Amino acid sequence: MSEFSLESLLDSRRGEDLDLWARTINPQFVRVLRTIGFDRTWARAEGAYLYDADGARYLDLLGGFGMYGVGRNNPRIRAALIEALELETPGMLAMGTTLLPGLLAEELIGLAGGRVERCLFTSSGTEAVEAALKLGRAATGRTRVLSAEHGFHGLTLGSLSANGNPEFTERFQPLLPGFAQVPFGDLDVLEEELRREDVALFLVEPLQGKGIHLPPAGYLEGAQELCRRYGTLFCVDEVMTGFGRTGRMFAFQHWGLEPDLVTVAKSLSGGYVPVGALLMARSVHESVFDSMQHAMSHGSTFAPNELAMAAGLATVHELNEQGLVEQSARLGERLLELTRPLVDEFDVVREVRGLGLAWAIEFGEPQGGGRVAYRMIERAQRGLFAQLVVVPLFTQHQILSQVAGHDMAVIRILPPLVVTDEDVEEFAAALRATIKEAQRMPRSLTKFALSAAGATMSRR
Ligand code: PMP
Repeated sequence: MSEFSLESLLDSRRGEDLDLWARTINPQFVRVLRTIGFDRTWARAEGAYLYDADGARYLDLLGGFGMYGVGRNNPRIRAALIEALELETPGMLAMGTTLLPGLLAEELIGLAGGRVERCLFTSSGTEAVEAALKLGRAATGRTRVLSAEHGFHGLTLGSLSANGNPEFTERFQPLLPGFAQVPFGDLDVLEEELRREDVALFLVEPLQGKGIHLPPAGYLEGAQELCRRYGTLFCVDEVMTGFGRTGRMFAFQHWGLEPDLVTVAKSLSGGYVPVGALLMARSVHESVFDSMQHAMSHGSTFAPNELAMAAGLATVHELNEQGLVEQSARLGERLLELTRPLVDEFDVVREVRGLGLAWAIEFGEPQGGGRVAYRMIERAQRGLFAQLVVVPLFTQHQILSQVAGHDMAVIRILPPLVVTDEDVEEFAAALRATIKEAQRMPRSLTKFALSAAGATMSRR
């Protein structure tokens, strides 16, 4: 008999991460990492910092696609998880109920307010979206679903059918029937579709995660009103924006919205345990779960997961206790203040935008010098110039950021909400230095860029 020890297992295989992934999980992903020089062996993480095997510190501005809102390895969430394990709570009953899910549901319903009175737990963001699609269609007795162009809602088949980015969808046709996308920000087109009174729900991110696009003034309020007028459920996808990311607990609160459906996930469990939820109006829930016979109309084995609930309760407590939502709002402002001047400073910078700690910078062809080189690089792959900034930010300044999406000259960051003023200042200074260097397009950089074409990173 030998005792299982994670520590000795990790010790005995240390340094094999990349090779093992290449052999067993995803060789193309490892190729991407190696091509752009992101192939570090990671040893440890704390808050907004990652440490590689040599002990070098990196500032993590991606936060696991925005999932580490309360910081990596947050000790108070960890303590709650250990406590839950040590209390030997009963866990999933199948035919029965436990206290933790009810407590977290009550908390989430209270935070969302407005029409939200019911909570259905899932194990991921895309599953929360699937629940919205399925329940929304059943509740309205309608089949069509509208979403926004360039929207992102997850990669399972239903969520993918609502995806507004052809690079995600074109290889997986046919998707579900009855789905259509409307331009984000255009109320006239939305009304044209809704007027047919056959749309079950309009699914929309309050701030589009791919490229960080903010809604035009009045758009979301107008969309909600049109949905009400034509009997369509208004569904706000807060998977990325929820729990303080944009400087409010939920982004929809910036505009005083009262959605019928709200999807959440990502940072709810502090990044420790897969979790998601669909928050909804009572009327939606009651039209599907309308009898004892239909008491189990939707669900999945692991949801609600006991540890996810414990982590979720601790995360909500942590957000409030540490004032992280307000911190996100304040540091987001600071970040814009420090980076907006880049638009005037550099010909190649088109726009800097953000809300709370969701931030992006967009590049475009310079009017003056460097135009030819910029064109050459963009011809190899659209958006490649952004990679010329992301790579040295990582390799020279030890800051982790990301090209926002396919075909986009946009860099996006979603830092843990625990970043400090110093972190934000360090990023702004490194960004300025890196853009300055990239704009000169030295031969070594362009050569690298051309060989790295095809290795654009962002998926989610
Ligand atoms: N909706 C939005 C707005 C998202 O940003 C994401 C993930 N990036 C999803 C849904 C899907 O969540 P998950 O990756 O947990 O399935």
